[in-house]
Amino acid sequence: MRVVDLIHAKRRGEALSAPDIRSLVDGYVAGRVPDYQVSALLMAIFFQGMDREELTVLTEAMMRSGEVYDWSDIDGVKADKHSTGGVGDKVSLILAPLAAACGLVVPMVSGRGLGHTGGTLDKLETIPGFHVQLSRARMRRQLQKIGVAMAGQSEKFVPADKKLYALRDVTATVESIPLIATSIMSKKLAEGCGVLVLDIKVGNGAFMARAADARRLGKTMIEIGKSMGRRVSATLTDMNQPLGRAVGHANEVLEAIEALQGRCPPDLERVTYALTARMLTMAGLAASPRDAKRMIQRAIGSGAALEKFGQLIEAQGGDRRVLDEPWRLPTAPREAVIPAPRPGWLGGFDTRQIGLAAAVLGAGRATKEDSIDPGVGLAIEVKIGQRVDKGQPVITVRYRKESAWQSASKMLEQAFEVGQEPPRPPRLVLGTLPASH
Ligand code: URA
Repeated sequence: MRVVDLIHAKRRGEALSAPDIRSLVDGYVAGRVPDYQVSALLMAIFFQGMDREELTVLTEAMMRSGEVYDWSDIDGVKADKHSTGGVGDKVSLILAPLAAACGLVVPMVSGRGLGHTGGTLDKLETIPGFHVQLSRARMRRQLQKIGVAMAGQSEKFVPADKKLYALRDVTATVESIPLIATSIMSKKLAEGCGVLVLDIKVGNGAFMARAADARRLGKTMIEIGKSMGRRVSATLTDMNQPLGRAVGHANEVLEAIEALQGRCPPDLERVTYALTARMLTMAGLAASPRDAKRMIQRAIGSGAALEKFGQLIEAQGGDRRVLDEPWRLPTAPREAVIPAPRPGWLGGFDTRQIGLAAAVLGAGRATKEDSIDPGVGLAIEVKIGQRVDKGQPVITVRYRKESAWQSASKMLEQAFEVGQEPPRPPRLVLGTLPASH
């Protein structure tokens, strides 16, 4: 195989053969194929796409570039959820213990935040003592004992994606459906789940602004799952405003704890319950969505889901007293508000801008090596469709540095509009694509 010939072939729109894709991935991970050739190939894929066979072979080759988890010796259905990323998306923090409390085994491997979106691992690490680097043996023991683990990727976990994603980030090849689909699916399949529910965010705070693109991405990932014998479904959910009230890290953990205590903002509840119900029905633990909803309400109402979160925190070295004593979570010292400039109805948000403003306050990273400030963040006080008076707080900001507040406040003032007519409330769940089998 000469890599230059593969670049030529893909540039002409031809399909690459399975052996060529496999040796390319192996060669790249081993350092035999240079970044500049892979960059050119990624750009050719960006413009020409990949067919179903190529997608499956690439996903499998990436998945097998490192450790592949197998939990088949643990009783119960192994199930997970993956979100394509949004602002205020703390669904995983609620869903993982909730699904485990309903009887699923949840081996969740998550990522860190980059750009305008937050990461589950960064949020969990705001709990004093909580650590996310679990060895495979430790993860197994935890899954056997409490049925849920929330871990970061080890160096050995899908190294091909680590290299490819970093390269895509600097070669303008991130926003490609085949490349996003193979990247996500290689990691989710390596996690060892039989059931996977994808939450594909749609809107101005998401990767996919248009529902048609989100649907194509969902279909592509479902096809990949099907060719590899897994049950995958995709639910499209709204990301035209932050989900719930909190945007940040520690404040999102607090909102998740409150949700597990039965005090969940309605939009966050709707999305979290829809995704958890999907996992339960696909796994065969619930006979219907209605049955799943009853199981979920029981797990929340009885305190079982909150207790499961406590067990998870304890198992991963964290201080479970945060469940009753929220002051143990970090919080930034200063508070200010962004008021409504006029009376009217909250007509819409620039959600990406809100995520970027939170990043400017210290909640985001410009590079993977940056550290985040766990205590800064935003509270969205008014959601789309609600009435506001002039001067009423729309966003409350927790910050540490005056200079960061100055920059973020200018961004936030431009990040919402107040109209004179009540807008139509957004649909939170836009639809579910059928499971692969
Ligand atoms: N998330 C991933 O893991 N990979 C992508 O390519 C995009 C989002």
